[in-house]
Amino acid sequence: MLNADLHCHSTVSDGTLTPEALAERAKANGVELWSLTDHDEIGGQQRALDAARSQGMKYLTGTEISVTFAGQTVHIVGLGFDHRNTALSEGLSRTRGGRGERAREMSEGLAKVGIQGAYEGALKYVGNPELISRTHFARFLVEAGVCKDTPEVFRKYLTEGKPGFVPHRWARLQDAVQWITDAGGMAIIAHPARYSFTPNEEYALFTEFKAHGGRGVEVVTGSHSSQEALRYAETAIEFGLAASRGSDFHSPDESHTDLGALPFLPGQLTPVWEVLADRIQ
Ligand code: AMP
Ligand code: MN
Ligand code: MN
Ligand code: MN
Repeated sequence: MLNADLHCHSTVSDGTLTPEALAERAKANGVELWSLTDHDEIGGQQRALDAARSQGMKYLTGTEISVTFAGQTVHIVGLGFDHRNTALSEGLSRTRGGRGERAREMSEGLAKVGIQGAYEGALKYVGNPELISRTHFARFLVEAGVCKDTPEVFRKYLTEGKPGFVPHRWARLQDAVQWITDAGGMAIIAHPARYSFTPNEEYALFTEFKAHGGRGVEVVTGSHSSQEALRYAETAIEFGLAASRGSDFHSPDESHTDLGALPFLPGQLTPVWEVLADRIQ
């Protein structure tokens, strides 16, 4: 089967490697078809496409849009769109819009439990001023010696109910799906096992996603166990969705799953790259 890795992050969002360094690493790991999917941002797409070309890899344009659905954050990966599409760029720009204010509020929350200067500290790790994320705060808190690694920071400080967590309203599901599909791409539900929906809410997510024009689900991703992959393979069949595969690689120091180092898709699924064959560059 094709070694496709269709989910990762660069310094244009919350990854630590540049698009060029990611392309080099993907190639060295045997990736044949690659996509850079920065959060709420497509500013790295031309660089990623050029880097993929010079490495001799096939490329699909990509992004990962933050959405609020039933009170939770859901990530929608978009693949194979025209990265010069204006409505998509504007939608992503609006989605990024609240991150600066949210970051200041996160910093205030952390200051209340005695962690000073977190906003400035996080900024040192930011590669794109419009894309300050919880990941950048997590890196600063590790550097400051508050926690031993980033998962510990999320557990203790950056998730619902913890001092650095600020609830945020992201894009609407229907808008994210529409921006991607109107730009010629495919919308895909990212890492579905990571949400804490009830069975009814999850059913509503997949049903509404499909009704809005969504066509894929990530079945194999860095954060899915083999059981979770099998479970969402069944969901893909149940909802008639194509299946995607992506490491969600962020950093050599932080990510357990390296680029391209993933199990293959379970059988009987339609890979997203077959549906997107004419969008591959
Ligand atoms: P944000 O978009 O600012 O809310 O940040 C979300 C990002 O934080 C995700 O894309 C992950 O990179 C990272 N993240 C979320 N939860 C965790 C966790 N439990 N451990 C490590 N990183 C996490
Ligand atoms: Mn991330
Ligand atoms: Mn995600
Ligand atoms: Mn991701």
